[in-house]
Amino acid sequence: MVKHVIEEVIKRNPGEVEFHQAVQEVVESVAPVLQKHPEYKELKILERIVEPERQLMFRVPWVDDKGNVQINRGFRIEFNSAIGPYKGGLRFHPSVYIGIIKFLGFEQIFKNALTTLPMGGGKGGSDFDPKGKSDGEVMRFCQSFMSELFRHIGPDTDVPAGDIGVGGREIGFMFGMYKKLRNEFTGVLTGKGLDWGGSLVRTEATGYGLIYFLLEMLKDMGKDIKGATVVSSGSGNVSIYAMQKCQELGAKVVACSDSNGYIYDKDGINLKTVKQLKEVERKRIKEYVKIHPKAVYEEGCDNIWKIKCDIALPNATQNEIDERSAKKLVENGVWAVAEGANMPSTPEAVKVFLKNKVAFGPAKAANAGGVATSGLEMTQNSQRLSWSFEETDKYLNRIMKDIYKQAKGAAEEYGAAGNLVVGANIAGFTKVAKAMYAHGIV
Ligand code: NDP
Repeated sequence: MVKHVIEEVIKRNPGEVEFHQAVQEVVESVAPVLQKHPEYKELKILERIVEPERQLMFRVPWVDDKGNVQINRGFRIEFNSAIGPYKGGLRFHPSVYIGIIKFLGFEQIFKNALTTLPMGGGKGGSDFDPKGKSDGEVMRFCQSFMSELFRHIGPDTDVPAGDIGVGGREIGFMFGMYKKLRNEFTGVLTGKGLDWGGSLVRTEATGYGLIYFLLEMLKDMGKDIKGATVVSSGSGNVSIYAMQKCQELGAKVVACSDSNGYIYDKDGINLKTVKQLKEVERKRIKEYVKIHPKAVYEEGCDNIWKIKCDIALPNATQNEIDERSAKKLVENGVWAVAEGANMPSTPEAVKVFLKNKVAFGPAKAANAGGVATSGLEMTQNSQRLSWSFEETDKYLNRIMKDIYKQAKGAAEEYGAAGNLVVGANIAGFTKVAKAMYAHGIV
């Protein structure tokens, strides 16, 4: 009944393998919803939801420090606005092409629906690599990027945020350019600095939210995070704050990584050092062992999943856990996997976890805390108020519990109890489908 949708997506979007993968998972999960709701089938909700409302691709020329002209490609996919303005991050990484942005934008539709906040789905970015660039180069790139993007976004239209390679510095440069071009100070981007419209907890939100979600999973299993051994891949925004929350709650985090390799510190990672290296000095993770000689560094990031742990947190990038790594984790006794990154487990890896009864928190539910707090930043911007850390954190915690409840409930309702992948897809899809149905054929 849904096979034709997947076939059509592959035909219409050739070569966009990550997008095909994301569509396949959602489409297969929601087939029972269409059976129960023939009206969605009749109005071709599924066929429409896999087609972005708008796709933008543009030239981003800039001048490097040596005076050479550089050209990158910019993207913004405005995927679905049925339940609110397009919302989703910008990724700056050399691997970015339309297929990556489309997969991320597609996932974002359902993730945003799960947050309970009124946000549609979108995503953008560029194949620009901020690594090794000076602040001046990053600024000139961001300004050029925004000199095109500004005409397509706005606080009630499309509100971008950060993602891989886009943190506070990049958001600042883009916000400055938007403000200059529009002559308007509005909440057009989230992840802003605290003195100019940002929200407390936004920096911590994806990592903290991931652990709040994980706690709900563990509660249902009768397990405690205290004393658990954790491996968290990546050492960027999501990984750092997930590790921080784990440590606060008494878990021992023994390994993290970057795109070159991983560090293993059997006594527990010193997070202060990781933050100094990655957030302040923008260095490689291997520098950690110079400061903590008892720790070991190994090249190649896949091997991080060979480390024995109770809880695995893939917090770096898509498809970082394949079937082999999943099997290794299971062999080593992992109890829970919660995805901080987007689509970090391949479909084969997900099957291994589910088959072996490992509690599995899929990205679109487990990492929704970042965009949820971005939604709270938008609310504060509209109110022209700033909430306290405690208040915002409490809200985030409540949202993550609610997301867990929705995913668990939908899985039970559709005969897939315990399968949060299916549950999250169905709960997110149902909300958007209802809105699309109400809006007619648009
Ligand atoms: P950052 O850029 O802050 O950090 C990314 C980390 O992952 C870095 O340590 C990076 O290493 C590593 N990494 C990137 N690419 C690869 C790769 N191909 N192989 C191995 N490691 C890699 O990004 P974030 O922490 O913000 O994002 C991480 C993931 O979380 C992404 O999938 C993102 O989409 C997702 N996410 C982020 C949210 C947010 O609020 N920031 C919200 C929801 C999801 P290196 O430094 O070497 O590049």
